[in-house]
Amino acid sequence: MSLFDSLAHIVRENENLASYTRLNIGGNAEYFAEPTNQEELAGIVKVCHENKLPIRLIGSGSNLVVSDEGVNGVVLHLGAPAFGQIEVTDKGLIAGGGAKLTQFVSTAVREGFAGPEQMVGLPGTVGGALHSNVAAHGVDFGDWVRSAEVLTRTGEIEQRTAEAMSFSYGQSSLNELVILRATFEFEKESAAELTKAMQKLWITRRANQDELAQRSAYIFEDVGGELATDILQQAGVAGMSVGKVALAENDLNFLVAEPGADSSQVVELIAKVKQAVSDKTGIELQTAINLW
Ligand SMILES: Cc1cc2nc3c(=O)[nH]c(=O)nc-3n(C[C@H](O)[C@H](O)[C@H](O)COP(=O)(O)OP(=O)(O)OC[C@H]3O[C@@H](n4cnc5c(N)ncnc54)[C@H](O)[C@@H]3O)c2cc1C
Repeated sequence: MSLFDSLAHIVRENENLASYTRLNIGGNAEYFAEPTNQEELAGIVKVCHENKLPIRLIGSGSNLVVSDEGVNGVVLHLGAPAFGQIEVTDKGLIAGGGAKLTQFVSTAVREGFAGPEQMVGLPGTVGGALHSNVAAHGVDFGDWVRSAEVLTRTGEIEQRTAEAMSFSYGQSSLNELVILRATFEFEKESAAELTKAMQKLWITRRANQDELAQRSAYIFEDVGGELATDILQQAGVAGMSVGKVALAENDLNFLVAEPGADSSQVVELIAKVKQAVSDKTGIELQTAINLW
């Protein structure tokens, strides 16, 4: 642990990552760091940079499959309150990268900021949502961002203006190590109307995704406007499974894991489904889920 010296109190060795992921699958991180403030975070990143130690960031682990073999180097987790603050401004919100999407959505709705109500029920953090520009009901998370503060892999803090950022389907140009916080602006609408719209969407989402409430993951990206779910349906992959991992019944673009599932089963199922789709339709699906 001498590598981290004065930061040793926030670094643990051989931490199992399964409980930090929605699928509850995966081996250990060689080092797991939970900084309590930005200074400690930058300190860890600098040590990794100087010692050429691999470093990754985990949000709420809802879009992640960690290998059963675990990962080398450091895994950072922004679980401390310092990274999860949400501030209300005249035009919108300023949110920390570790803030929960659920809290982001409910704060926006309460304040009469329109748009985020479409994302009700999406798991994850603001940082994770920006990293992959999550989208729901035709609305992109990146649409509302006006500026962002990031931490680079060398431990420098940098600002990004709206002009310096770009968002496209499933990705953003914000690919630095850590999205620390971002400023968002929205159109104003009646909070009561937004609350009604959010409740309606929430009921529909819960009804469709009840089986996804626990150990589930969103698998493939849509293809040129065509929903991955529809492509999977056409390819006839319903019911496919490997070991304790199966495609969800209500929405084929999700997989669900039962107790005893492991990462090799997830990887094998994804490969099997991709192959079947390619054989049947000629479409090469791209994974939305991150594989570590
Ligand atoms: C049931 C269910 C429904 C879903 N529905 C949708 C949907 O409708 N639309 C959609 O687009 N997605 C959907 N998703 C995907 C998921 O909600 C998002 O991808 C989620 O926002 C990821 O956030 P996270 O914090 O869990 O990221 P993680 O899974 O922890 O990490 C994913 C990636 O983001 C990076 N990351 C996380 N935080 C930060 C940060 N602060 N700075 C820099 N990088 C960061 C990680 O390093 C990693 O590469 C769904 C997932 C599930 C399980």
